[in-house]
Amino acid sequence: MKNIVWENLSFGYTKTNHNVRCYYKDGKWGEIEVSSSENIPIHIAATCLHYGQEAFEGLKVFTGKDGKIRTFRWQENHKRMVNSAQGIMMPEIPADIFWEACKKVVELNKEFVPPYGTGASFYLRPLIIGTGPQIGVRPANEYLFLLFGTPVGPYFKEGFKPVNIQIVRDSDRAAPLGMGTYKVGGNYAASLVAGDKVHKNGYAAALYLDAKEKKYIDECGPANFFGIKNNTYITPKSSSILPSITNKSLITLAEDMGLKVERRQVPVEELPSFEECGACGTAAVISPIGSIVDGEKEYVYSKDGNAGPISIKLYEKLVGTQNGDVEDIHNWVSIIE
Ligand SMILES: *Cc1c(COP(=O)(O)O)cnc(C)c1O
Repeated sequence: MKNIVWENLSFGYTKTNHNVRCYYKDGKWGEIEVSSSENIPIHIAATCLHYGQEAFEGLKVFTGKDGKIRTFRWQENHKRMVNSAQGIMMPEIPADIFWEACKKVVELNKEFVPPYGTGASFYLRPLIIGTGPQIGVRPANEYLFLLFGTPVGPYFKEGFKPVNIQIVRDSDRAAPLGMGTYKVGGNYAASLVAGDKVHKNGYAAALYLDAKEKKYIDECGPANFFGIKNNTYITPKSSSILPSITNKSLITLAEDMGLKVERRQVPVEELPSFEECGACGTAAVISPIGSIVDGEKEYVYSKDGNAGPISIKLYEKLVGTQNGDVEDIHNWVSIIE
């Protein structure tokens, strides 16, 4: 293994030793297999290649001060993966296979799990793809569940520093009765052009509005949105956003801290009234939002380049729970070893 400078890692792919695979055939899942290959042989007519039968997950593993390796709410990732699979007619992956795969990938790649205090973590990426051939638009008869891991640093190069984002008004990533609530690759393909555009405009991420009326906040590309005002944590309710486990956790932590929580439609006109805003997700953790640009308008949330006080508290509680510094009062953490 080459020497990894943990502190310098970005959110990118680093080759590790092993990944695990499990095949679905004749109506059932097989045994977990270990592979040291980064490739998969695949049928030229596999449904994942032609018709987008692909769903994925993302969860992180952390080393604590005590040297123990912890996962955070993996059961939620499993549940969501089952839901995504159902949304595109793929078979459910059983919880025990999902959890065994997580543990195995960590155990087989322990030297790639970043130590405590480096700001880096080990990212697990499970996916299910349709591997059976079809030419007509139909679900495949065979599937592959694959899980690999890779050490990662912060999603945004700014880390826990405010980023500037831009509202997208000329494209949508998901429709109200479409695929937005499923973690499927197609949603990301749908976001690439808009993402490229906002990056070229100098912004860290795109902020999407509801596809139907363009009146309400949906989410940031790969992260949910929240705003804070009057001691209240406010996050959009929408049928086209991905139910973020980070957001769900922040809601609980906000309630623990005595904040009120509102999950409701958030009109664009409300943006100027927020005291703090953030984007949240496994990859981004909390990314404080420094400003939101909407055409000629700009709403500024951070003038000094720092996150607001409530975002900081939420971040510390969340990250502390994940790495074991803060007591896990909600039973969110599972120790791998
Ligand atoms: C994965 C994802 C998120 C974040 O969800 P977490 O469970 O917090 O990682 C938010 N939005 C989209 C579109 C996603 O795919």
